[in-house]
This record gives sequence, structure tokens and C-alpha cells, in this order.
Amino acid sequence: MLTGITILGATGSIGLNTLSVIQQHSHEFEVIALTAHRQVDKLEKLCLEWTPRFAVMADEDAACQLEQRLKKVNAPVQVLSGLEGLTFVARLPEVEMVMAAIVGSAGLLPTLTAAQAGKRVLLANKEALVMSGQLFMEAVWQHQAELLPIDSEHNAIFQCLPNTQTPTVAVENNPEKIQSGGVRRILLTASGGPFRTYSLEQLHEVTPEQACAHPNWKMGKKISVDSATMMNKGLELIEACWLFSTEPDFIEIVLHPQSIIHSLVEYIDGSVLAQLGNPDMRTPIAHALAWPRRISSGVSRLNLVDIARLDFEAVDFTRFPCLQLAKEAMLAGGTTTTILNAANEVAVQAFLQGLMRFTTIPKVIETTLSHLSGRIVTSIDMILEDDAHARELASEVVNRLTINH
Ligand code: NAD
Ligand code: MG
Repeated sequence: MLTGITILGATGSIGLNTLSVIQQHSHEFEVIALTAHRQVDKLEKLCLEWTPRFAVMADEDAACQLEQRLKKVNAPVQVLSGLEGLTFVARLPEVEMVMAAIVGSAGLLPTLTAAQAGKRVLLANKEALVMSGQLFMEAVWQHQAELLPIDSEHNAIFQCLPNTQTPTVAVENNPEKIQSGGVRRILLTASGGPFRTYSLEQLHEVTPEQACAHPNWKMGKKISVDSATMMNKGLELIEACWLFSTEPDFIEIVLHPQSIIHSLVEYIDGSVLAQLGNPDMRTPIAHALAWPRRISSGVSRLNLVDIARLDFEAVDFTRFPCLQLAKEAMLAGGTTTTILNAANEVAVQAFLQGLMRFTTIPKVIETTLSHLSGRIVTSIDMILEDDAHARELASEVVNRLTINH
């Protein structure tokens, strides 16, 4: 029997890497659905190559175009659209696994739907967990979904944790669980992004092109900018707290510019376990697709002699204030991380559009957070409301800061 899979965000960097691993194991996996935002050409190409049963475009017009094009060539692919289409393919009975690789808040509802349908959720879309941590984890527990981290650091931590851990590592929100396995702390590594050594003055002048050129990883634009501001590590700190049911103080962030060690787990006997590998997302993707087995991924083998050295540095919270903002938001709890995520998405978009400077990104987030207080989460509607409020306010802040600029 083939394992059915839906890939949310199939045209992106994670989506394409997932298809690359699946291609090497086509006797094991069947692509049931592929989704994208509005890149008709890209999704059309994938549909012709993979003939999934369903193709979903979030954008209605794009869906119409795709449907017409596929009809012309008699491709047996049913085209759906909008949020309805995305959630439909996330819960199909013939789908066992859902790769959640939509970028940003747009991924929340489809990813949550997959968890509520009890699927194996391969989580790349960290923003979904940052927005809705408690609620998302509760859905995973309640519906006995399997949650496997794709983010390379979290996948590494998962691999280094005691082997008694279930795929949903955070068991029933029990912070003692991880400690009872003898774990003393988690070490989350960060490359430091393209501007690791830049002064504050240099950071002031950087362009979107420079910010999107990560030294070790080839990724989508949003996560590339997040890596450059180090908000990515802040979001990952929050993601790790939820995935492993722990607190920010249990996690230490260490700069490791080569991105060879993907993260580490320290035990009370002094042992520190690390997961190493070349920086290529096909490794965590293959790990999660086949867990608990191992399958090949196509990633080149690690040559330690060629690498020769692994360096480590402390993080600098002054030049990268986003990290501190994320940590404080997690400590504040409730929808504070929803607000943080929304303000960050608005600020990153404005920077990518050339509307404001790189160094204005943390200012937009800080100002937004200072005007809105997080609430204890009781429903998904509350999260969506606070997300919308934060976006509105952050857009106003962007306008104000760019006018005064
Ligand atoms: P990307 O920009 O390359 O791809 C994003 C995908 O999401 C595309 O298929 C796009 O069509 C789809 N999408 C965008 N907006 C949408 C919308 N409004 N509605 C529906 N679909 C939409 O991004 P990526 O680099 O592949 O990252 C995807 C996710 O994985 C992000 O959450 C990112 O943080 C996470 N992640 C990525 C990497 C990486 O190496 N790229 C590593 C770790 C985690
Ligand atoms: Mg990562």
C-alpha cells in the first residue's frame, strides 16, 4: 500500500524538496494533493509531472486558469480553490501525511485541520505553531495526530531526545516529561544569517537582495529575511517550547555559522548529543516521511575533513533585538506570540517591498506589541481576531515610521 500525502505549499522551497525525496521512493508514497498560492505555471508543471488527484490554488482566479490549462491537455486532476480547498485536501481519508509547508499565517487553518483529522503532520510552517501553540498542541493530543518537526533544528532535537519520546514529543503538556528522560537543556543552533558580523550602522543599509542571500541555506524570501533579523531563531524558540513542552529558559541559543550541527540535547550525566549533516532540508524531510525508519534523501555525505572546523559564538541581542522580542512574547503567553508573528509578517513584507529599512523591522514589532496585549486563548477565532488586529496596527506603524523616515 502506498502512503498518501498532501503537500501544502508544494511550489515552495520545502514543497519542492519534499517532492525530490518522494521521487526517490515513488514505490512508497503517492502524492494525492498539491497546493500553491497563485503560481499557476509552477503548479501546472507539478500537476503534469505528478498527476495528483487534487490541485488547490488559494487564489480563485489562479485556480480557474489552472483548471482551464489542465482541461486542455486532459490531465485527470481536480482543481479546487481557496481556504476550503486547502482544508479539504488536508483531511482527505486517503491522505495519511500532510506536509505543512505554506509560509506564514496562511498555513494555520489547513495545518490545524490536518491535526484535527489525526494525520501525520510534517511541520515546516512554524508560524502556525507560533500563532496558536496551545490550541494546536491540544488538537494534536486530542485527535492523536503525529507531529514531526521539519525545521532542521527541531528535527535534530527530536533525533537527540531520549528514544522513549513519541512523535508528538510534547506529551499532554507535561513539562516534566522531557526532564524525566535525563535531559538538562536543549541547545538550539543558529547560523547567524548573512549579517552575523555586521555593525548596527551596516545593518541600517542592507537591501532585500542581501537579506535573501543566506550563506548556507536556499529558502523562501520570508524565512530568509527572518534568518537575517534572527526573528527566525525567535520563532524557533517558541516552536521548540511547544513541540517539546518546555520553557524558553530551558533552551540556550548558540551561534554556529557553518550550519553543520543542527542542534543538540544535553543530559544530566554530561553527555551532549548532536545531529550533524550537510545543510540540506531533504534530510529532515526524509527523516519525518519515513519515521521511525530511515530512507535515503539524496543529500551529499558529510565530509568532516573538508569541513575541518566547527565554530561557536554567543548571540548578540543588541544587534538582533527580534530574538529578545520573541522570547518575551513567549513568556507573556496567550496571543502575544500571535501578535508578534503578525507584526513580523507585515514588517518583513514592507521591507521586501522597499518601503522601509531592515532595522525598522524590530521597531514595528516592538511598537505593535506595546499597543496590544495578548489574551488567554480559548478559541481559534480569538487567534484570528488578534492576528487581524495586530496586522492592522502594524500596517499603521509601518506607515508612520516610513513617513517620519
Ligand atoms: P516558500 O516561499 O518557498 O514557499 C511557500 C509556499 O507557500 C509556496 O508553495 C506558496 O505558493 C505557498 N503560499 C504562500 N502564501 C500562501 C497563501 N496565502 N495561501 C496558500 N499558500 C500560500 O517558503 P519555504 O521556504 O518553502 O517555507 C515554507 C515554510 O517552511 C515556512 O513556514 C518556513 O518558515 C518553513 N521552513 C522553511 C525552511 C527552508 O529551508 N525553506 C526551513 C525550515 C522551515
Ligand atoms: Mg530552522
